[in-house]
Amino acid sequence: MADPKSLYQEVILDHNRKPRNYGTLAHASHKAEGHNPLCGDHLSLTMNLDGDRIDGIAFHGESCAICKASASMMTATVKGKTRAEAETLIGEFRDMATGKLDLTGRPHHLGRLTVFAGVRDLPTRVKCAILPWHTLHAAFNSVVSASTESEDDPMHAPIGDA
Ligand code: ZN
Repeated sequence: MADPKSLYQEVILDHNRKPRNYGTLAHASHKAEGHNPLCGDHLSLTMNLDGDRIDGIAFHGESCAICKASASMMTATVKGKTRAEAETLIGEFRDMATGKLDLTGRPHHLGRLTVFAGVRDLPTRVKCAILPWHTLHAAFNSVVSASTESEDDPMHAPIGDA
């Protein structure tokens, strides 16, 4: 079995070198900006919904390696999924990153995203990893701007049935 720590580093490096879905969609139906002032991460997310399904998604911005890798893996994972499926992943990722989800407990849909489970032990990195998911949630609700430090932080609200 691969050492989880080296797998984590490998995945982060790979997604930083070759971020998936990096850029901006020209005719996005949904968009949101995400800020994490604690680290200086800034993400701009554009998305096209075809009915209830994510037809296209792209991100760009200035962020640290963990945030960029999380955004890259997120876009690759949710593309082609329905809004409900994506919202489930948002809740599961948030719970994993904050240590509320026991990965060996109830079934989840995180797959390769579990490489980010280690951030729960790095409090300053939790928000970096969560920011893209947080921004995706804001984009679904057509919230123009999201911040990890704002009062109406959507991540403080219950998501789906998670
Ligand atoms: Zn960061």
